Amino acid sequence: MLLPDHKTKIVCTIGPASSSEEVLRGLIHSGMNVARLNFSHGNLEGHREVIHKIRKLAFELDAVVSIMADLPGPKIRIGKLSEDPIHLKKGDKIILTTEDMEGSGSIIPVNYSRLPESIRPGSPVYLNDGFIQLNCLGVFDKRVECEVVIGGPLSSNKGMNLPGSKILLEPVTDRDLDIVDFALNEGVDTFSVSFIEKADDIQKIRNHAKNRGKSVFIVSKIEREEAVKNIDEILGVTDGLMIARGDLGVEIPIQKVPVVQKELIHKANLLSIPVITATQMLESMTENIRPTRAEVTDVANAILDGTDTVMLSGETAAGKYPVETASMMAKIARETESWRSKNKNKTDTVIKDIDNIKMDVDDVISLQVNDALLKLPIKYVITPTVSGETSRHISRFKSDTWILAFSRYLKTSRNLALSYGVYPIYIESKTDNWENIAVEKLKQWEMARKGDFIILTQGQSPGKPGGTNLLKIISIT
Ligand code: PEP
Repeated sequence: MLLPDHKTKIVCTIGPASSSEEVLRGLIHSGMNVARLNFSHGNLEGHREVIHKIRKLAFELDAVVSIMADLPGPKIRIGKLSEDPIHLKKGDKIILTTEDMEGSGSIIPVNYSRLPESIRPGSPVYLNDGFIQLNCLGVFDKRVECEVVIGGPLSSNKGMNLPGSKILLEPVTDRDLDIVDFALNEGVDTFSVSFIEKADDIQKIRNHAKNRGKSVFIVSKIEREEAVKNIDEILGVTDGLMIARGDLGVEIPIQKVPVVQKELIHKANLLSIPVITATQMLESMTENIRPTRAEVTDVANAILDGTDTVMLSGETAAGKYPVETASMMAKIARETESWRSKNKNKTDTVIKDIDNIKMDVDDVISLQVNDALLKLPIKYVITPTVSGETSRHISRFKSDTWILAFSRYLKTSRNLALSYGVYPIYIESKTDNWENIAVEKLKQWEMARKGDFIILTQGQSPGKPGGTNLLKIISIT
């Protein structure tokens, strides 16, 4: 068996440019580990078809591909405009209204009925990903008068952000919960959740699934200032994190995004929570076959920050070169990881700060594994797993050695598709003799020879979640 030439994981957002079997196959070959379905776009029938195609191809290609359903949350948008686009000019006075009507250059409908309660004179309003900026002059019943500070073209249904204003909307909407039901019925149980602000928002989704007898893997999208403030309580309950830099870069001052990215990645790494860095990573490849130098550097720097996973959005959903873009991600990852492996002392911030966290048994075992990897020529780390926890704990050290996570649980294998350097191996074994299974498989796949060292982690009750308390160094005979 041939392992990938890079350990950073890749999320590709699937859309019109990538939903054919041919492109999906190309994405899997290029290194897509996670297919993200953005439920802000498309209809349920279309998403169902894509889910079936990905499952079929993953089976055919013997690949573990996770599907992540992205819940839209309470995205505030402007409504329909009679002319598309309109052009707003600096100094123009315009009205934002909660009335149901078609908009024009002077009055623009908004889908947020409590806008007049949220906003005050002097509050900033951003439209179209922050490209247009307004300033609130006054609030009159259902209408808000604004002055254009930075103008530009504006089309129907574009997003609106209100940084600094209290958003009087539940972060998890009824539509989100309907999408959860749909996805669970289709066998999808990984969700990225937009606009969450606090731990309770995540628990709402977890409880909803629990009431349907399902457990879910939740990736919290950090894109609001509230979420950045509440990061510690969010990390206490989430399974994964996404630095959703698109909305985040409008909700907080854009110049703060790089530092927030670094701090959040580091916190998630310390707690063994897989983290995705998202948005505009190779944006120019939406149109061009080659990325800019700055984009390539951004991807490399996210990897050096410690991200587990890098994400493509419009580039693969609607771009001209989805497969080439995913391949470019993989190439940047390979090069950056190779540099990091020779410069561990400059980049290894997790090991420096690990003593600041409260340790559990998994932490201690993972530290021992990491130490052994530095001292012995270990070929692979084998982590037979029910929950994926031990594999994630070892993954955070971003070692050069692959972690082969053998599991009889497909759901666990798919969730590990988000963790750096973990290669999930799904095997429908009836026994728990993972040492024999792993050694036999490594020989059969010509991945290990007599005399090679491997590490095996295991618990006293194999087959039960948690409880890993042993590290064994095995010399292949
Ligand atoms: C983002 O805002 O960066 C993001 C990933 O969310 P979406 O693509 O859903 O807007």
